[in-house]
Amino acid sequence: MTPKRLLLCTDMDRTVIPNGRQPEHPAAREQFRAFCARPDVCLAYVTGRHRQLVQQAIADYQLPEPNFAITDVGSRIYQVEGGGWRNLEAWEAEIAVAWGDLTHDDLERALRPVAELKLQEAEKQNRFKLSYYLPLAIDHAAVLLRMRAILDGLGVSASLIWSVDEPEGIGLLDVLPENATKLHGLRFLQQQLGYADDELFFAGDSGNDLPVLGSPVRSVLVANASDEVKNLAMKLAGEAGHAATLYLAQDAGFPLGGNYAAGVLQGICHYHPELCPQFKGSES
Ligand SMILES: [Mg+2]
Repeated sequence: MTPKRLLLCTDMDRTVIPNGRQPEHPAAREQFRAFCARPDVCLAYVTGRHRQLVQQAIADYQLPEPNFAITDVGSRIYQVEGGGWRNLEAWEAEIAVAWGDLTHDDLERALRPVAELKLQEAEKQNRFKLSYYLPLAIDHAAVLLRMRAILDGLGVSASLIWSVDEPEGIGLLDVLPENATKLHGLRFLQQQLGYADDELFFAGDSGNDLPVLGSPVRSVLVANASDEVKNLAMKLAGEAGHAATLYLAQDAGFPLGGNYAAGVLQGICHYHPELCPQFKGSES
């Protein structure tokens, strides 16, 4: 069935922002902007960044203005209209339940015995997001187990999300209400806006994108993703029976290649060739 419209959800860093080691095709972002300007495309950024850093990236990298932004790794959702950003309170109410009466500060105190954790800057914390740095050399799986034991003892339902900031060479660890992940955020948006499953699309590149990449949501992993993430995503999607809704962008066979925004477009063309006549049959 030809979709009438597309809810295009994409991660930012190293997905549409070319801030990784691999090169970006010089026309990739221009083509991405042109695609997002279509009236049948609703664009949502889904990112670990907070609002100010999202706006900074849009300006610095000439990215298209989104219609929505799921920020802070899913703990905030904004509707963007005419340059104004409105916090969706319905989303806050939905995710508040998992932490019960406990606040960010209560959880921060409870997790202090895990000495390897270093709290990130104040602007990266919010009512529903506790964010730490964790050196790459540390066994992060063991740290996660100790954190899990403490949180379980408090009766807190939390997601612990591990990812790597490649340019900075440091691990990032987010503690969020269990239902405040990127996946839950984009399902909430899908439901609020009334998009069908075949009108929903996601693009990502790293650890905190894995729950979506391994889900039944049609998604693409951009070609510049690490082999570790590619293998994990294929394993997750395969084991869950969702291999058909995970596409790995390729360097060859697409005029713009598969890195960053080009990989996002390649993924859309994989699921919806009818939306991409301009890229048809032009092997690189
Ligand atoms: Mg990323």
